[in-house]
Amino acid sequence: MTAGVAIDRVSRSYGTAKALDDVSLEIAAGEYIVLLGPSGCGKTTLLNLIGGFDAPSSGQISIGGRSMAGVAPKDRPTTTVFQDYALFPHMTLAENVAFGLRMRGVSRAARLARAAEMLALVGLEGRGNRRPHELSGGQRQRVALARALAVDPDVLLLDEPLGALDLKLRRGMQDELKAIQRRVGTTFVHVTHDQEEAMAIADRIVVMNAGRIEDLGPPKTVYLAPRTLFTATFMGEVNRIPLGGTLPFDPPPAGNSGVLCIRPESLSTAEGPLNLGPCRVDDITFFGTHQRAHVTSVAAPDLKLTVHLPQNSPVAPGQTLTLFAHDFVVLEAQ
Ligand code: ATP
Repeated sequence: MTAGVAIDRVSRSYGTAKALDDVSLEIAAGEYIVLLGPSGCGKTTLLNLIGGFDAPSSGQISIGGRSMAGVAPKDRPTTTVFQDYALFPHMTLAENVAFGLRMRGVSRAARLARAAEMLALVGLEGRGNRRPHELSGGQRQRVALARALAVDPDVLLLDEPLGALDLKLRRGMQDELKAIQRRVGTTFVHVTHDQEEAMAIADRIVVMNAGRIEDLGPPKTVYLAPRTLFTATFMGEVNRIPLGGTLPFDPPPAGNSGVLCIRPESLSTAEGPLNLGPCRVDDITFFGTHQRAHVTSVAAPDLKLTVHLPQNSPVAPGQTLTLFAHDFVVLEAQ
């Protein structure tokens, strides 16, 4: 099953510190939402409030149109997958997955059938009799996911679910998580501080900063058209050029205030909408998928930029390139 989540003007204070400050968010049924932000921005607090492990200081949370005020975690239509997945070591995988159903009084035959179905869903078909210690970290994480989905929640909450996995496994599991979410149709709310992970799996990313929602939208929008300088910088590398002085750009950027933001991969020698003029290459490094160069504007030596060039472009330090920006935004200085 699946349900939407409505978060209406929710705040959570601990003493004088505000972990969440007047947060409102509508999550559609079946949506894959990622809460993204630096450590301490309030992601886990928001997830805990949805799951009922903590209560808001003010504001309302509803799931499927039903207010969750005073509803205990076990009575909510939610389940949570934690980073440390905490499987029961003395139980088989099938028993682990069936655990929540046992608590709900489902018969043994029915819950073992459901466990087998869920293990197949996460790619562990036929392994129900194994025990957690026989599995790799990635496989254990899949069992934790199967266990959380076995009780058919409307909303699945995932707190840094891939945090304990190495990078390669993590990237593989991201693809799997998204595919599983599509198959089951459950609303997923997933917390991470990894921008690449957020972009790989989210329908919409919620960028959080200091207890507030800073930005919100599909990955491409949040990355290419960020609403704030914080989002632009948090989502990946960006050249920030304060407007106001004389810049050798053609056409000259409109306005005298704000910060022109250009991602390194949006700069190239191919003609584009904004001509930045000749730039001298200071250094260049091979990165596999691209070459990363630092350059200095010939006409404005204070202007230094980072540029991603194609992996095979024959560029060397000391060379001069005329650079064009293909995508850029002007944002308010913060
Ligand atoms: P991380 O990525 O490090 O887990 P986060 O974005 O999930 O960070 P939260 O755990 O939600 O951040 O914490 C938000 C703020 O609230 C932090 O400043 C944290 O210290 C504070 N906080 C969270 N829980 C409590 C608590 N039980 N008592 C006091 N302060 C808390």
